[in-house]
Amino acid sequence: HNMNPDTTPIAAIATAPGRGGIGVVRLSGRGLEPVMQAVCALPPGRLLTPRHATYLDFVQADGSVIDQGLALFFKGPHSYTGEDVLELQGHGGPVVLQMLLQRCLEAGQGVGLRLAQPGEFTQRAFLNDKLDLAQAEAVADLIEASTEAAAKSASQSLSGVFSKVIHGLVDQVIHLRMLVEATLDFPEEEIDFLEKSDARGQLARIRASLQQVFEQAAQGALLRDGLNVVLAGQPNVGKSSLLNALAGSDVAIVTAIAGTTRDKVTETIQIEGIPINIIDTAGIREAADASDEVERIGIERTWGAVRDADVILHMLDASRGPTRADDKIVERFPPNVPVIRLWNKIDLSGHRADIEQLPDATHIYLSATDHTGLHLLRAELLRIAGWQQTGESLYLARERHLVALKAAREHLDMAAELAAQNDQALDLFAEELRLAQDRLNSITGAFTSDDLLGVIFSRFCIGK
Ligand code: GDP
Ligand code: ZN
Repeated sequence: HNMNPDTTPIAAIATAPGRGGIGVVRLSGRGLEPVMQAVCALPPGRLLTPRHATYLDFVQADGSVIDQGLALFFKGPHSYTGEDVLELQGHGGPVVLQMLLQRCLEAGQGVGLRLAQPGEFTQRAFLNDKLDLAQAEAVADLIEASTEAAAKSASQSLSGVFSKVIHGLVDQVIHLRMLVEATLDFPEEEIDFLEKSDARGQLARIRASLQQVFEQAAQGALLRDGLNVVLAGQPNVGKSSLLNALAGSDVAIVTAIAGTTRDKVTETIQIEGIPINIIDTAGIREAADASDEVERIGIERTWGAVRDADVILHMLDASRGPTRADDKIVERFPPNVPVIRLWNKIDLSGHRADIEQLPDATHIYLSATDHTGLHLLRAELLRIAGWQQTGESLYLARERHLVALKAAREHLDMAAELAAQNDQALDLFAEELRLAQDRLNSITGAFTSDDLLGVIFSRFCIGK
């Protein structure tokens, strides 16, 4: 990279907030020696041996002990960030860690030590070429993974599997570009270029590989982001029973967030490792009934999430049929989100488990308490998600990667069109290849704007 990383020393608590067995304060940058000497009370002239864990006291300026723990020093470039890194592992209490962090900042005043921004450690790792951009993103994705399959795939991306695939594509494009550019220097040979070099064949192979990568990345993005589902219906039709049935059949409910405030009520279950984020509209009251502004905002935000849903499950009681209240529920559905009508309690109504595609919606007949017909719903959700069972290990991908792959695909499509016209517009052909290469490179961050970096790293937690 030709960027000049800021080497100002930074510090943050690297472990999650709250109480834990251990907690870590991490520092990175130049000039950590005086901090290390002061906080670890090392004898004058002595420093920690790199990569050796030393058990010692962390002390205040007056010599009083803050905590006892392990100090670890990594000499750059052999560290996570590529800079000198100091890790102080103490007890994982919020107060004691805060005291330790404050003590480091105080001891590091002379060298300009400051608090780290969100994601700044990983950003430095990227700027110092310890990780490429796709790998840096995988760090955050591994931390945020909501299913085991997502975590496995994030780990694949972190180890560079996805980046390698992208580099492979770029290499193919470069190879073809070199042929074209060489020909451009000898105009009299242009005529035969497409034939002799099998440029069309090469391009066809690149496009086929790109398509394959795109499909895999789309699956990877699904593992990361999952399917957003809204569950709506009258009280007592069996919404909670369905959630329990779906969650119970898989090993665990991954998260059960009862709304951070009086916000939306989302539960994430998984089907074949795909996170299925379900918003239960039973938790949403009408905004008009809300007692205060904060609640009204929460309610509106939830309806916003409904508009962004991938599918709405509208549950009805098959033994009673639709009611006027259901018409009111349907009225609130955004027009462009597909709806599945779930006819529940077929054990009472005598229907058999079934799925029917009707003009208004897909209808599924099931029983949440007997679990009959649940497999039909699971399969339909996976179908809507676009999940293909490959059995292969995947890499995790983000929407950003899909957008870049699509743009690269469009440039290669243009190149193919130019090649087909056979009017020897070789310079345009070369230009489309160059643009495709740029888009592919943006995935691993070989050429990336600072704005994009800012967006990506600011979404990390502090300390990562
Ligand atoms: P919700 O208000 O929509 O969440 O409905 P619940 O899940 O709380 O269910 C309401 C009642 O209907 C409970 O007594 C459930 O046991 C019952 N119930 C839910 N699903 C079924 C079903 O498939 N068959 C039968 N017979 N009862 C059901
Ligand atoms: Zn996080």
